[in-house]
Amino acid sequence: MGRSFKVVILGGGTAGGYAASEFVKHGLIPGDLCIISQESVAPYERPALSKGYLLSKEPARLPAFHTCVGVGEESHSPKWFQEKGIELVLGTRVTEANVRDRTLITAAGETISYSTLVVATGARVLKLDEFGVTGADAKNVCYLRDIEDATYLVDAMSECREKGGKAVVIGGGYIGMECAAALHGNRIPVTMVFPEEFCMPRLFTPEIARFYEDYYTTKGIQFRKGNVLSSFECEDSGKVTAVILKDGSRIDADLVVVGIGIRPNVDLFEGQLTLEKGGIKVNGKMQSVSNSSVYAVGDVAAFPVPMYSDVRRLEHVDHARKSAAHAVQAFLMGNKVNDYDYLPYFYSRVFTLSWQFYGDNVGQCVLFGDRDAGKFGAYWVHNGRLVGAFLEGGSKIEYAALAKTARERPHVKDMSLLKKQGLDFAMSV
Ligand code: FAD
Ligand code: NDP
Repeated sequence: MGRSFKVVILGGGTAGGYAASEFVKHGLIPGDLCIISQESVAPYERPALSKGYLLSKEPARLPAFHTCVGVGEESHSPKWFQEKGIELVLGTRVTEANVRDRTLITAAGETISYSTLVVATGARVLKLDEFGVTGADAKNVCYLRDIEDATYLVDAMSECREKGGKAVVIGGGYIGMECAAALHGNRIPVTMVFPEEFCMPRLFTPEIARFYEDYYTTKGIQFRKGNVLSSFECEDSGKVTAVILKDGSRIDADLVVVGIGIRPNVDLFEGQLTLEKGGIKVNGKMQSVSNSSVYAVGDVAAFPVPMYSDVRRLEHVDHARKSAAHAVQAFLMGNKVNDYDYLPYFYSRVFTLSWQFYGDNVGQCVLFGDRDAGKFGAYWVHNGRLVGAFLEGGSKIEYAALAKTARERPHVKDMSLLKKQGLDFAMSV
């Protein structure tokens, strides 16, 4: 007979940590809640891994960035969980889930039962091996998802720097851009390789991307755009020494960092819960549409976005925090809690640059501001309404105005006037 809990949070990442915190805020009976995590450390703010953790000077280290420091609260170390009577089961992978019996089975063979399950399993990185790239399992090919990866990367960067080596970054998304900046900060020359014509293609327009690419270029970071990795050249020890691209060209590499996207961790629930967009389909209470004893939060949830009459799955920390809190409130207070009505919010910080985006990047895009001065933005207008807003180098007040504008979706009649008004438009909404 294994352990049994009123609520089990499966996954001790960002959303798991915020869900636990929300339970505590509402008054938790000791012994009611358990968190199971494959990682060996208590929940932490994952964004710190590609930023503070990789810094060459005064890098961030646990316990400084456990949840919920990301919203200005205290850092919840294992002691905090113990004091609150939360069973924190670390270093434990759940290998089977049975939502009908409400049981989970761990890799060690223990059965853990629950009345309610909060799935917060996040995602796994896509690996180059999955595309059959030979040499992709070499020691100096690195990924970044968890603290173990980050620690490995820190050691790999230090080895690379000591021998005066070079790095190649594969992928021009969030990980690629943030890791390239971190590598540069560690005095390692970087070449970025990605298949698209410009970086961050899912969000940026070519004009927005150009600003960041130009900035990276001034730092000495090189780009090989519209090109993909074909194979690795390896030495006898198995270490990669060069990256060969599809066009036949070769780039020396002492370290390779790969960021080519993720896949949500839903395997445990395939055939048991309704899935959509790669995630667990939930209602506005973050409750599985096919099993009311299961909630899903964070990267793994495919949830309704009332503003866009759409179902989305988002891979960003603000949603992880807010969806976790929302699920707990809905679980505790039922219909007294409104449906989750999330305004998509993404951000990134690299070098001294910092941008935020709110809303939806569909429709016609209008750029405003002064890129040379490092302060510029963009609005997206769809069906006559402003639906998305982006700003580089903004202040707290300006970002708040952007969020308000993307939430209210004001009508826009004159695109050229909108361009001329620029940030003033959002500030006056
Ligand atoms: P995770 O935080 O990934 O947590 C999932 C947890 O579940 C993990 O601990 C995992 O080990 C565990 N788990 C999974 N399967 C099992 C299992 N079977 N058994 C036991 N445990 C399991 N977003 C932003 O908006 N801004 C940023 O600046 C930003 N920076 C990022 C930097 C990095 C390096 C990464 C990787 C992501 C970043 N993100 C950022 C994205 C953001 O961190 C994620 O959206 C967020 O962490 C999702 O939270 P989650 O709890 O759903 O998943
Ligand atoms: P992203 O999805 O952001 O970017 C991956 C990029 O790699 C895409 O542009 C993708 O192109 C491209 N790609 C796909 N396959 C290949 C390939 N074989 N070779 C080269 N490029 C390829 O994922 P990341 O890996 O950058 O980030 C992982 C996760 O971490 C995401 O969920 C992200 O949101 C999160 N994260 C968020 C941050 C933030 O919000 N600031 C910071 C760091 C991570 P295509 O689009 O065509 O598939």
